[in-house]
Amino acid sequence: MSGADLLGFEIRPNPKPATDEERAAILADPGFGKTFTDHMVTIKWTEGIGWHSATVQPYGPLSLSPATAVLHYAQEIFEGMKAYHAADGGVTLFRARENARRFVESARRMAMPEMPEELFLESLEQLVGIDRKWIPGDAETSLYLRPFMFASEAFLGVRPAKEYLYCVIASPAAAYFKAGPKPISVWVSEEYTRAAPGGTGAAKCGGNYATSLLPQAEAIERGCEQVVFLDAVHRKYVDELGGMNVFFVYDADRTVVTPELGTILPGITRDAVATLARDFGYEFVERAYSIDEWRADAADGTLTEVFACGTAAVITPIGMAKGRNGDIEVGGGKAGELTMRLRQALLDVQHGTGPDRHGWITRV
Ligand code: PMP
Repeated sequence: MSGADLLGFEIRPNPKPATDEERAAILADPGFGKTFTDHMVTIKWTEGIGWHSATVQPYGPLSLSPATAVLHYAQEIFEGMKAYHAADGGVTLFRARENARRFVESARRMAMPEMPEELFLESLEQLVGIDRKWIPGDAETSLYLRPFMFASEAFLGVRPAKEYLYCVIASPAAAYFKAGPKPISVWVSEEYTRAAPGGTGAAKCGGNYATSLLPQAEAIERGCEQVVFLDAVHRKYVDELGGMNVFFVYDADRTVVTPELGTILPGITRDAVATLARDFGYEFVERAYSIDEWRADAADGTLTEVFACGTAAVITPIGMAKGRNGDIEVGGGKAGELTMRLRQALLDVQHGTGPDRHGWITRV
């Protein structure tokens, strides 16, 4: 039986939603992650009962005991995806079931209860349904959805909690690149690593992001937009960026290389890029890829493009990598041709301006 069959959602509409004028002012320039819609979803989990009390309610503060377990031991996971206005006026989600599956995997790694995929999907549909006026209409804009779950039991012992709260909030998001994508520079962190074998690198847990903040600050100090993490064992194979997966294009060989799964987040955009690259006639290779290879192949020109991908920025060209051993420029620091083709193909599927050949879109 699916979770959605088990639970009915109690709907408590916001008695004071934003006015049309207030909402229009926000949607005209939403930025990212700073304003939220009128409602949120909450669902509780209690040991011995399971999932219960599914509610759509006014967006607002949560009241927590100072002893709430997540505040001490960081038992928390989250997801990130977007709802779009389709070209025909409908509302769509991109590969939301993949987010539901990854949420289950993250929960397992963090010893948390698994949310049934159907209940996860239903929670998104409930929120997008009630707050659909909050989806911005301009090109490349979207409504960012943030499902998350944390240990809500007030208890200071170190063990899996016996109570959890799952929530979904939504935030209108501007186009990531207003004037078209601009190649970014990345800082190769040699001092800090993100994830070790056996660790939590493949889970989308808050703690992974807390530990990325110091190396990310170092990247910004060096004039770079993002940090690149190397593997924790050999300290030379590329893992991923702070919030994106990374790809290397060898145009003469018609090959796209990306680090294999294991200690990195299995990105949903990464998986879509693999499919689209194959559609375009490129061989897609997942393997260990070293920083030395990046440097040598950029220098002799065989490495023609580097790009990163993720839900937030879709596809971002990488023009330059900086590190202790000097700078690595790729493709003259410009956005590559395949990078831009892949980006457009993804945007076309997401915004309904192109065909959905792989069944990635669901209607809400
Ligand atoms: N790696 C990390 C560390 C991330 O935070 C993200 C963003 N969720 C990604 C990769 C890309 O994943 P996705 O394509 O599912 O957004």
